[in-house]
Amino acid sequence: MAIEKHINFFELQKASEKPGCPLCRIISDRAYKYIDNTLFEHVANRGFRALFRAAGGFCSFHSRGLVSFRDGLAVAILSRDILEDRIDCFKYKKPWRPKGRCPVCIEREKIENEYLDFLNNSGGNSIEERELREFFTVSDGLCASHYAKLISAKGLIKSVPAWLKQFQEEKFKELMVRLDKFIELSAYGRQKEFAALSEQDQLVWKEAAACLNENVIGSSD
Ligand SMILES: [Zn+2]
Ligand SMILES: [Zn+2]
Repeated sequence: MAIEKHINFFELQKASEKPGCPLCRIISDRAYKYIDNTLFEHVANRGFRALFRAAGGFCSFHSRGLVSFRDGLAVAILSRDILEDRIDCFKYKKPWRPKGRCPVCIEREKIENEYLDFLNNSGGNSIEERELREFFTVSDGLCASHYAKLISAKGLIKSVPAWLKQFQEEKFKELMVRLDKFIELSAYGRQKEFAALSEQDQLVWKEAAACLNENVIGSSD
């Protein structure tokens, strides 16, 4: 494994110990750090400001986080450019249609592709790969969206490792079975059986919602 793969490896190991899709967690954490540490360093950079301006600022999701960042001056400088363009549009009754893409979304995609690539090339028998398999198969697994991206990733050199495919698909089937049970026991007259379910099974709907909705929250614990 190359040096940069080790970073992916350890980050994935840490995220696998926490609840939810490990990839969602890594991407959210790194995107948050991107805004917090890197972005504001680029405020003085003309190239970045042009990129930000062309995008019309961050997307509505990522701009929601801006008020919580420390650097008021950076937010002011970036916002000023966008406001100037918006005032211009109001004046000439032009529709607001920025052509660029949100820089945080671009960054997220980069991180996502890096990890999808890493996972897709994790088949084999080296010690690291065996370790990866060990910790990954006790994690909550990838959400549906990340698994879908994994199996259809562009430029895939190898196919998805068999162990990973088996682990993920069994996870989804198991979730389906638990959902069916939850729905069945939610019927009138089945309260006693429902109460006998484990706490985890009583809250399986939360797991399903998390599994089907990629987590794009700025920062996670
Ligand atoms: Zn995910
Ligand atoms: Zn965005």
